Amino acid sequence: MVPGARLVILGRQGAGKGTQCMRLARHYVVPHVSTGDIFRAAVKAGSEFGRRAEEYMVAGQLVPDEIVVGVVRERLCQRDAKARGFILDGFPRTAAQAFALDEMLEEEGMPLDLTIDLEISEEDALSRLAARRVCSTCATIYSTSRRPSIDWTCDNCGGEVVQRQDDTEGAIRKRLADYNELTTPLIDWYERRGTLVRIDAIGTPEEVLVRMVQAVDGRKQA
Ligand code: ADP
Repeated sequence: MVPGARLVILGRQGAGKGTQCMRLARHYVVPHVSTGDIFRAAVKAGSEFGRRAEEYMVAGQLVPDEIVVGVVRERLCQRDAKARGFILDGFPRTAAQAFALDEMLEEEGMPLDLTIDLEISEEDALSRLAARRVCSTCATIYSTSRRPSIDWTCDNCGGEVVQRQDDTEGAIRKRLADYNELTTPLIDWYERRGTLVRIDAIGTPEEVLVRMVQAVDGRKQA
C-alpha cells in the first residue's frame, strides 16, 4: 500500500480544493477532512450544531474558530487519521486555527508533510464558482461545463446535483474577501516555516492532481 500523508491544502474558493482533496485522499488512502463538508452534513442532518453553523454559512461568514477547531480535533483524533494521516481541506483559515492545528499536531506527534497553496486568480475563481454544482449526498463536485453523465444525477452515488446554497454572488464575494484578509497571511507563515509549495490550479483536474502528487512525493523523498 502507498504510504499515507499529512497535508493541508490552501487556496481560494474555486481553486479546486474539494475536487483535488477527494482525489488525493483516494491516492494516499487517508481521510479527506473538509470542514465545509462536515458542516453541510450537520445542516442536512438538522442537528442543533448544524442549525448554528447554517446561520454563518448562508451569509458566507466564517463559523467561529472554537467551533471549527473542536470539530477538527475530534476528527484528527480518530484512528484512521492517526494511523495514515489526513488531507485537510478548508482548515485552517485563520491565524487562530493555524496555531490550534500546530498545537494539536505537536501533542499527537503528527507533523505535517506539506502545505499546498492551490493558486488561482480572483477572476478565474469567480467564474468557476458561478458554474459550480455539487452532489447533495456525497459532495462530489461538478460544473456546468463538466456535468454528470445523466443530467444532475451524481455519477458517484446517484444523489441530486445542485447549486450550493451559499454560492450566491454576495456570499461568494464575502468568502473571497475573508480569504484575502484572513487566510492569505497563513500562506506566508507556512512558507517561512519551509512547508509550503505553490501549485498552479489552472489545467484539467487530472493535470493539477499530477502536479500535487509530484510535490508531495518529492517532499517525502527529500
Ligand atoms: P468555500 O471554500 O467555498 O468557502 P467550504 O465548503 O470550505 O466552502 O466552506 C463552506 C462554509 O463553511 C464557509 O463559508 C464557512 O461558513 C464554513 N467553514 C468551513 N471551513 C471553515 C473554517 N475553517 N473556519 C470557519 N468557517 C468554516
